[in-house]
Amino acid sequence: MIKTIGVIGAGQMGNGIAQVCAVSGYDVRIMDVSKDVADKGVGTIRRNLERQLAKRRISAEDMEAALGRIETGAEMGLLADCDLVIEAASEVEHVKRDLLNALCPVLKPEAIIASNTSSISITRLAAKTDRPGKFIGMHFMNPVPVMKLIEIIRGIATDLPTYEAIADLCSKLGKTAVSAEDFPAFIVNRILLPAINEAIYTLYEGVGSVQSIDTAMKLGANHPMGPLELADFIGLDTCLAIMNVLHEGLADTKYRPCPLLVKYVEAGWYGRKTGRGFYDYSGDTPIPTR
Ligand code: NAD
Repeated sequence: MIKTIGVIGAGQMGNGIAQVCAVSGYDVRIMDVSKDVADKGVGTIRRNLERQLAKRRISAEDMEAALGRIETGAEMGLLADCDLVIEAASEVEHVKRDLLNALCPVLKPEAIIASNTSSISITRLAAKTDRPGKFIGMHFMNPVPVMKLIEIIRGIATDLPTYEAIADLCSKLGKTAVSAEDFPAFIVNRILLPAINEAIYTLYEGVGSVQSIDTAMKLGANHPMGPLELADFIGLDTCLAIMNVLHEGLADTKYRPCPLLVKYVEAGWYGRKTGRGFYDYSGDTPIPTR
């Protein structure tokens, strides 16, 4: 029975996951590199809930109750009594591995561990833990409170009760789950990221400007966001990490990350979260950079 959920990482995904769990009545513990960073995540949750309050989608009592269910900290010990821990730290395999190594000894043996990784092998992450049977992929979409889908990914060792507990949790969170096999980037990102990478090649080769590429896909393919706008939203570091996993994991040159994407990441231009990517976010409206 899942009652208390730990979330590792208070970034854009971690705080969204914590928000939907707290609003659905679960006790939530958010752990990040410092309590300040974790508290910043809770600040984002408060602002999101205040917007929902203004639109009368949540009552003031339910909002305060949800916020009251969240605890934050920088110590793994915070997660000791969790029934489930969802890892949503940066998309860097050794970071995730080190976190899992530190988490397992403090966690009760029957607790489930889920990773929100966008692309890394669940089987490989699970094998580094003391509980491969109780390890699973739970891939939320961004922004978590808005997007309806969760991909559930079973590693080769994931047991049936773990899968059933997570499928049940997804519906309690008001989400629709789809099962994906444990192949690089699963379903959504296997399809979405090569499309974004191709849009970056289109820019790199001068076929179109940032504006023309995004407008073309919005008006020509009826996409709600252009691919470059979406890349900035996801985070260019995350986009590159996923392309690298596809490229290495499937050993096919069609997944070669665009050199322009690599250069932007080297420059620290990660998109919205750093204020610059394919657009400059320093003013009131995003300005295309090319
Ligand atoms: P982010 O950069 O916004 O947040 C990552 C958080 O992890 C940061 O707060 C960082 O401080 C924290 N962190 C890093 N190392 C840590 C450590 N050692 N201990 C504790 N916390 C640590 O990234 P994000 O976009 O929230 O992505 C997080 C995960 O979610 C990644 O695995 C990513 O692939 C996945 N994901 C991202 C998206 C997306 O659209 N951005 C969608 C689905 C899944």
